[in-house]
Amino acid sequence: MVIYSGKAVFGGIAIGKISLYKKGEAQVKRTKVDDVEAEVARYHAAKEVAIEQLGALYDKAVKEVGEASAEIFEVHQMMLDDDDYVESVENIIRTQEVNAEFAVATTGDNFQKMFSEMDDEYFRGRAADMKDISERVVNVLLGNGDGGIKSDEQVIIVADDLAPSETVQMDKDKILSFVTVHGSANSHTAILAKTMNIPAMIGTDIPLTDDIDGKMAVVDGFEGKIYVDPDEDTLAAKKKIYLEEQEKKALLEMLKGKDNVTLDGQHINLYANIGNTKDLALVLKNDAGGIGLFRSEFIYLGSEDYPTEDEQFAIYKTVAENMAGKKVIIRTLDIGADKQADYFKLPAEENPALGLRAIRICLTRPEVFKTQLRAILRASAYGKIAIMFPMIISVDEVKEIKDIVKGVESELDAEGIAYDKDIELGIMIETPAAVMVADELAEEVDFFSVGTNDLTQYTLAIDRQNQSLDRFYDSHHPAILRMLKMIVDAAHRHNAWAGICGELGSDLSLTREFLAMGFDELSVSPGRILPLRKIVLETNVKEYIAEKNS
Ligand code: PEP
Ligand code: MG
Repeated sequence: MVIYSGKAVFGGIAIGKISLYKKGEAQVKRTKVDDVEAEVARYHAAKEVAIEQLGALYDKAVKEVGEASAEIFEVHQMMLDDDDYVESVENIIRTQEVNAEFAVATTGDNFQKMFSEMDDEYFRGRAADMKDISERVVNVLLGNGDGGIKSDEQVIIVADDLAPSETVQMDKDKILSFVTVHGSANSHTAILAKTMNIPAMIGTDIPLTDDIDGKMAVVDGFEGKIYVDPDEDTLAAKKKIYLEEQEKKALLEMLKGKDNVTLDGQHINLYANIGNTKDLALVLKNDAGGIGLFRSEFIYLGSEDYPTEDEQFAIYKTVAENMAGKKVIIRTLDIGADKQADYFKLPAEENPALGLRAIRICLTRPEVFKTQLRAILRASAYGKIAIMFPMIISVDEVKEIKDIVKGVESELDAEGIAYDKDIELGIMIETPAAVMVADELAEEVDFFSVGTNDLTQYTLAIDRQNQSLDRFYDSHHPAILRMLKMIVDAAHRHNAWAGICGELGSDLSLTREFLAMGFDELSVSPGRILPLRKIVLETNVKEYIAEKNS
């Protein structure tokens, strides 16, 4: 047995034979051409074919791994059309009077070298992409196919590096794991591997010699090791972990596509919480019914200055389109307290958690609020968006917000800009004040979503950031549980629906309780959707209530 180490980019155990993946490197010869303009035209035609191939790959990847991970193929399309790149190829053909294959391969090598020497890690990561796009055009010019690997059994792919287009073209059913010698943790290959749910390692010190091809191996993506020719003890130990993992996965996978309905027919929506568009792939992969909390403040936190209306619109539109008609609840900016953006220039406060934050900023600086509302409303024409307002304490606030929303809608009407005229408006219930006036609030809105993180903080008077108080921060406190029941009842009395988007929503020990309370939705981190669904499917709510009362 020989053990090689690398950096694990996705956990899991894979047991199987190694398939040494060698790029079908095109043999490019340098030949003189007489008609350079015809050669330039031949290059342009090949480039268009390559762009078409990438379009097909994009569509395939969107279906398999979601739009966020598929974006790389759009980036490749853009790279192929990059002026500097195109000019370099044309220049080599014209000045050296050589064939297009040679000009493209040379340009690819030069650009790859240039990128790999850049200081910025992101650009260094793009070096492999430069080579990838160039090889694609060369293959078109040579009349080679679109690549892909051929193997009849499931294998562990061991390679020097893998271009995203190579990983996505592979037949996922045949791949147990990726192990590469090169590649960065930020590379799209690593991201794709994660999305594909395959154990993967990069930076592995494994030799790429022909003798490892076909050898039995175990990849442990938890510890970042590949065991080639494992001994019996190792194999048995890893097999045990593998079987446990498979069991867990298989059980949960089987729940995909199932309705979230209890044994006695009660339905609940299971939505996902996200902070940015990168999370979308996980949302889709985990079969979330919608997005119950898009923490839009992360857009602000990731910017040097106020994000413009168009910048925000592009993000909200992407999310709405990716979710293809499923509900996307965008929470307006919840800046303040622990989420500070310098350019807001918020005053220093004695008690920031009780200070100028969230909706209070929006109502104090309506121009910032209106920019965000315009962006969200414009994006609402592209999917099923709902808007949610954080840190509400009074009915007057909600009335003021609704007036501002109406004002923005009138502006859009006057400008002839489309938006969803029936857009749902909801509020977060995060303060004891909101709980106490929940009936009046429910008359004003379409839905409530309980922010249990803040509701616990404000109800128990415990700073949620203060770790030394963790033993007092009891989110199962009867005060919280009673409030939750009050909230859901108040909502239902006024035809509004109620959900939970705070961390408590994913507390599996309370799922049956939430069903019994009558919650309509739980919004949780994507990875919690299937475990929650499992409990929902196994619960008989009426029996649970009867048991509790007996
Ligand atoms: C909450 O307070 O429970 C919540 C979901 O909002 P955040 O955690 O972003 O404050
Ligand atoms: Mg909150």
